Amino acid sequence: MPHVEYRTERSVAVIAFGNPPVNSLSHSVRFEIAAALERAASDPSVRAIVLTGSGGLFSGGADIREFNTPAALRGPNLRQLIVAVETSDKPVVVAIAGTCLGGGLELSLAAHHRVASADARLGLPEVKLGLLPGAGGTQRLPRLVGVETAINMIVSGEPVPAKLLAKTALLDRVVDGDPVAAAVELAASKEAAARRTRDLPLVEPNLEALCEFARNGVKTQWPNLPAPVRCIDAIEAAGKPFDEGLAFERRSFLELMQTPQSQSLRHAFFAERAASKVDDVPESTPVRQIEKAAIVGAGTMGGGIAICFVNAGIPVWLVEANQEGLDRGVARIAGIYDGQVKKGKLTQAERDRRMALITPTLAYEAIAQADIVIEAVFESMDVKREVFTALDRIMKRGAILATNTSTLDVNKIAAFTKRPQEVVGTHFFSPANVMRLLEIVRGKATAPDVLATALRLGKTLRKVAVVSGVCDGFIGNRMLEQYGRQATYLLEEGASPQQVDGAMEAFGFAMGPNRVGDLAGNDIGWAIRKRRRIERPDYKYSTLPDKLCELGRFGQKTGGGWYDYPNGPRKPQPSRVVEELIARHRADIGITPRKIDNDEIVDRLVYALVNEGAKILEEKIAARASDIDVVYLTGYGFPAARGGPMFYADLVGLYEVRRRMRQFARNPHGDPAFWTPAPLLDRLATSGGTFNGGEGAAV
Ligand code: NAD
Repeated sequence: MPHVEYRTERSVAVIAFGNPPVNSLSHSVRFEIAAALERAASDPSVRAIVLTGSGGLFSGGADIREFNTPAALRGPNLRQLIVAVETSDKPVVVAIAGTCLGGGLELSLAAHHRVASADARLGLPEVKLGLLPGAGGTQRLPRLVGVETAINMIVSGEPVPAKLLAKTALLDRVVDGDPVAAAVELAASKEAAARRTRDLPLVEPNLEALCEFARNGVKTQWPNLPAPVRCIDAIEAAGKPFDEGLAFERRSFLELMQTPQSQSLRHAFFAERAASKVDDVPESTPVRQIEKAAIVGAGTMGGGIAICFVNAGIPVWLVEANQEGLDRGVARIAGIYDGQVKKGKLTQAERDRRMALITPTLAYEAIAQADIVIEAVFESMDVKREVFTALDRIMKRGAILATNTSTLDVNKIAAFTKRPQEVVGTHFFSPANVMRLLEIVRGKATAPDVLATALRLGKTLRKVAVVSGVCDGFIGNRMLEQYGRQATYLLEEGASPQQVDGAMEAFGFAMGPNRVGDLAGNDIGWAIRKRRRIERPDYKYSTLPDKLCELGRFGQKTGGGWYDYPNGPRKPQPSRVVEELIARHRADIGITPRKIDNDEIVDRLVYALVNEGAKILEEKIAARASDIDVVYLTGYGFPAARGGPMFYADLVGLYEVRRRMRQFARNPHGDPAFWTPAPLLDRLATSGGTFNGGEGAAV
């Protein structure tokens, strides 16, 4: 519950506000702070005011629960509160501990003095939501820290430790420990004066040149993002009279709010927070304690998963089929930690402490007391059967039995046990210790508290957990398959691997599909296609990637795939062999290559994701469109400023998406069936609705 405490100490009024978990500036907090300021103003015994947070931190900024609600603007709004602080006749000293971000820092900038603990972190992260600080931050910060530091802080959005700002006018004092006593000291002293940041001159003789230089830099670094440039424009406007600069900042803020990039980044922010909510598993669902874990299979995934647990302080048993596999697995984990020690990211002592949390064993019996066991053995139903039968026999009652399978039926795996309600899928992404996404696969028998525990575990392991129903490929890989099919059709029809990758990279993906294939191993897709051709003979696939694999070109691991790698993995070179392979393949299937423009490439690949996503949504494999977006944003490198495939389609407009799909269906070399709009997409396109907002009412 929000609260503001008011007390007087000597002649100083101390106003401490709290609003767990991050002391956000919700309407009631703003209201109570304003009331406390008035109380201090009208008390003749009070000479100065100290404003501080509580619970060891100042404020995380605006209250995200108020975003897009009238409460965000209800008076006193943040800008009005800031004016109240700045125009106070009695000096206001802000005491900053912990974090001081966004609106919290903007409020502090308007105070007359600031005292911070050395380890406090101050920042303006608005740019990460495609915005700029809209409550005077771009005008006051450069007056206090200088233009260059202000640009760095506002454009990066990264918080800066107080001790690095100690020499600037931003901080009057930097202290060890709690800053309130020092703030009261300052407030009670003669030094305290109601000087206003807005009245300070902006000292920067080379303002224009500096801003121009910075603008050029950010345009190259983020060609698709308008916010960083606007941040610099607004900082430059601080060279004008204060009110003019402030008006420019306000206008820019409102304009940025309307950009697709900001809408997308804000969508991504909220989508991630919504993902952990499951309708029929309320937050009050009890969760099981996870204090000891076991991992079966110490290969690529098992090793990475073990690291996730150990990094979170949870000890693990690591089980392998034989000593050699076990030694290899432990050595791989040690190698990853050693690399971090070498880079200075981890101390040797910490590395040793983490390694000591791993108990390698060949005996299944040894893991009986684990609270959760995650199976990461070979992707074969027979091996999974063997392992789950053993786990069912051995594991203590109440233990959660999880599988990391990427493609196999979790319900079938659960049926190998006499406790299918305790079985759940925990689909980590590779490298498991790096990738943020965790798909939690809910089997038809999975108990609600097992699901709730898996979701909680996701948080503990610092993952973004998204719940998926059971289907082949779950949410992410099922959609990726369609993306991959289109990517190879494009090669057949006339595009080169580098054109396809270039178009997707210009759209914002870190890597196009062919580079990803080379990185992950083209043989993985080959194996899947072989299986599919048996399971779904009606399903059409290009045989081009098979021919690539038949040449042994699996990707980086074999020295070449869609590209050659003579200069290392980061520098793919167009390959003559592949060029010839593609030309021969086109001739074999009777295609005369045509010129394909980049828009077609992007639309075909993205709408392939969207159409499958629509099916996944309708089948309730994903609970909400935003969950699909989160999967793609955190697991597949979909550009954050596009908001994920479903949100992107919403912004384009589903009518237009469907129109484009119908156009692609007329392509003689395509696969017309591929482009049949999913029924949900079709309905929404007709009704004017959106995936994220539901049915519209147009027709
Ligand atoms: P891997 O081949 O690298 O490792 C599997 C390990 O399991 C091997 O070390 C093997 O010795 C061990 N093993 C086999 N049978 C065993 C048994 N009965 N008892 C104990 N250990 C046994 O495979 P991986 O890439 O780590 O994949 C493991 C699982 O994770 C698979 O189900 C796979 O589909 C899934 N997965 C893989 C990826 C990926 O990118 N590699 C991503 C997500 C999920």
